[in-house]
Amino acid sequence: MRKYKAEYIWIDGQKPTAKLRSKTKIIDGDFKGLESLPEWTFDGSSTYQAEGKSSDLALKPVRAVINPLRGDGRDYLVLCEVFNSDGKTPHPSNTRAPLRAVAEKTKALDPWFGLEQEYTLFEGNRPLGWPDHGFPAPQGGYYCGVGSDEVFGRELVEAHSEACMRAGIHIVGTNAEVMPAQWEFQVGAIGPLEVSDELWLARWLLYRMGEEFGISATLHPKPVKGDWNGAGCHTNFSTKAMREPGGMQIIEAAMPKLKARHEDHIKVYGAHNTERLTGLHETAPINVFRWGSSDRGSSIRIPLQTQAQGYGYFEDRRPAANMDPYEVTRILLETVCLL
Ligand code: ADP
Ligand code: MN
Ligand code: MN
Ligand code: MN
Repeated sequence: MRKYKAEYIWIDGQKPTAKLRSKTKIIDGDFKGLESLPEWTFDGSSTYQAEGKSSDLALKPVRAVINPLRGDGRDYLVLCEVFNSDGKTPHPSNTRAPLRAVAEKTKALDPWFGLEQEYTLFEGNRPLGWPDHGFPAPQGGYYCGVGSDEVFGRELVEAHSEACMRAGIHIVGTNAEVMPAQWEFQVGAIGPLEVSDELWLARWLLYRMGEEFGISATLHPKPVKGDWNGAGCHTNFSTKAMREPGGMQIIEAAMPKLKARHEDHIKVYGAHNTERLTGLHETAPINVFRWGSSDRGSSIRIPLQTQAQGYGYFEDRRPAANMDPYEVTRILLETVCLL
C-alpha cells in the first residue's frame, strides 16, 4: 500500500521563548487535503506544556504544505495548534487561537503583513566563519556582501529559500546582514494567520536544513555582545485603506495609538530585546517610541516609497528575531484596527 509521511509541527511551552517540535506520522494512501489529516496527541510533560500526571495534549492540523525535503512532493509539513486533552479548548501556550479571533474581526480591512526574519548562523559556539580567537573585521562590508571573505553560510541560505519556494511559502527575498554570519529572509505580504504560519514553517525548515550542514540558526536578538548588530524581525503592516490614495492619513492616525501602547507591544516583541533596542545599530532605545520616514533609528519607519506616493505601509522595527508572529500580528491588529 502506498503511504506518505506527514511531519506534525507544533510550538512548545518553553519560556521566555517557545521552540518548535515535530514528529512524523505515516499515513496510508496519498495526501487528500488539510481536512483529511487526523488529529494526534503528544506528551506535553516533555515540552513544558503539561504536568506528568495528565500529559496528553492534542495536535490539530491548521496548515499543510509540501515537504520540500523528502518524498518527491508526496510528503507534507503539517503545522498544528495545541489543544488541551479535552480536544476543545486551546492550550495556554497556543497563541494562534487568540489571533484567529482578531483576524476574523478585522478581515474586512484586508490586513497584510510582511515579516523580515533575521537570524544568525552558528557552528558550535561561534558564529559561522568567525576566527577561533578574536573577531572578524568590524562591520561595514558584510551587508549584502559577496565573496568568501565577507559571506558565511550562503549554501544553506540558498537551499533554504529554494525549499521555501517549493513548499509554497510566500518568501520574497533574502540578504546577508550587517554582522557576518547574520542573514535575513522575508515572507509576505499576506494575511496575519497566513504570514505567521508560514514564518513558523520557514523557521522549522531553516533549523531542519541546518542539521544537514552542521550549522545551527539562532533567533537570539543579540547573539554577540558589543559593537555587532542584533537580529530583529521587522514587521511591515498595511490595511487596504493604507494601500490606497489617501492612505498616508490612515497610517499617521495609527501612530499615536501605537505610541500609547508602546509598552504592551514591547512585552510581546521577544525576550532579551533590551539587549538589542539600545538606540545604536539601527534601533530606537526600548523605552522610546518615535516614528519617521526612512529613519532606521526609529521605532516605526515609513518607507521612502510610501512617503513619496502618499500611501502604502509602515514598518515596525521593534520586534526581535525571536518574536512569536501570532502575538505580534495580533497586537498590531488590536492597536491599529480595533481601538
Ligand atoms: P527593508 O528595506 O526594511 O529591508 P525588505 O525588502 O527586507 O525591507 O522587506 C519589506 C517587506 O515588506 C517584505 O516582506 C514585503 O512583503 C513587505 N511589504 C511590501 N508591501 C507591503 C504592504 N503593502 N503591506 C505590508 N507589507 C508589505
Ligand atoms: Mn529587510
Ligand atoms: Mn534586516
Ligand atoms: Mn526592515
